[in-house]
Amino acid sequence: MRILIHGGFFSESSQSNETKLLKQKVLLDILEKSKVYLQSNNAVATSIFATAMLEDSPLFNAGTGSQIQQDGKIRMSAAIMDGTSLKFSGVINVEDIQNPVFVAQRLMKEDDRVLGGEGATKYAAKEGFPLFSTETEERKKEYLSKKESNGTGTVGCVVLDRQGKLAAATSTGGKGFEIPGRVSDSATIAGNFANQNCAVSCTGVGEDIVSSGLATKIVTRVTDGFSLTEAFKKSFDELKPYDGFAGAIGVSKNGDVFFSESHPKIVYACFDGENNTVFV
Ligand code: ASP
Repeated sequence: MRILIHGGFFSESSQSNETKLLKQKVLLDILEKSKVYLQSNNAVATSIFATAMLEDSPLFNAGTGSQIQQDGKIRMSAAIMDGTSLKFSGVINVEDIQNPVFVAQRLMKEDDRVLGGEGATKYAAKEGFPLFSTETEERKKEYLSKKESNGTGTVGCVVLDRQGKLAAATSTGGKGFEIPGRVSDSATIAGNFANQNCAVSCTGVGEDIVSSGLATKIVTRVTDGFSLTEAFKKSFDELKPYDGFAGAIGVSKNGDVFFSESHPKIVYACFDGENNTVFV
C-alpha cells in the first residue's frame, strides 16, 4: 500500500512558520486517515476520500479555499482516473458545490464522463449536491486587493492498493484571477492520469502542464520501461526549454514513489509502505 497526497505550490514568502506547521499537521492527519481507509477500500475510493478531505481544508486551493476568477466567481475542476478500468471522469469549472471530486466520482457511472461549466453545475444539482459556497474571507481579500495568486495550490492524491491497483485524483480552484472559462490542467489527462503501471497527479501552471502532457507522459514512460525516477526526470527536463512551472507526485505498480518540482515548492506527504514523510 502506498499513498501520496499533495497540496500544490506555496512560495516561501507565503509560508510563516505557523502556517507551515499547520499544513504539516493537516497533511499528516489526512494521510493517516487515508491509510486507515485504504485498509478496507480500493485505490480509486481512497484517492477520492483523501482528495475530498484536502478540498475541505481552507489551507488549499481546491473546494473550500478555492481562488476567485476575474469576474468574482469561483469555478473549480476535479478529476479521477482509475488505473484498472482506465476510466477518467471529471468536472471543469463547476460552481457552488462543496466537493468537486464527488461530482467527478458520480460521473464514473455515466457515458459522458467529463462535464464543463454550466452543464457540470446543473448535473451536480440534478444529482442532489447541495448548493455550497467555497469562498473564504482570505480569498475574498486577495481578490479585492487584486493581488496576484500567492501560489496556494491544487490538491491531489495517488494510491497503490493491496491488490496492486492504482488511481489518481486531482482537484483545483485554478490559478486565480483567470479569464472566466479558462480550463485548468487538473481535469485533463495532462494533470491527472493513471493506468495499471503508474499514477500521477500534478500541480503548477496549467498551461505549462498541458503543453507537456505531463501526467500522461510520465505514466506512458513507466509503461514503456522507464523507472519512475527516470520517467519523472526526463519529463521534468522537457519543461526546461520554456521554464515550465509544474510539480507532480507519482507511484508505480512495484511500489516506487516519487515527486518532482520545477520550482520550489510543492507541499506533499507520502506513505511509502513503511513510513510517513511530509514536506512543506
Ligand atoms: N494547476 C492549476 C491550474 O493551472 C493551478 C495549481 O496547481 O496551482 O489551474
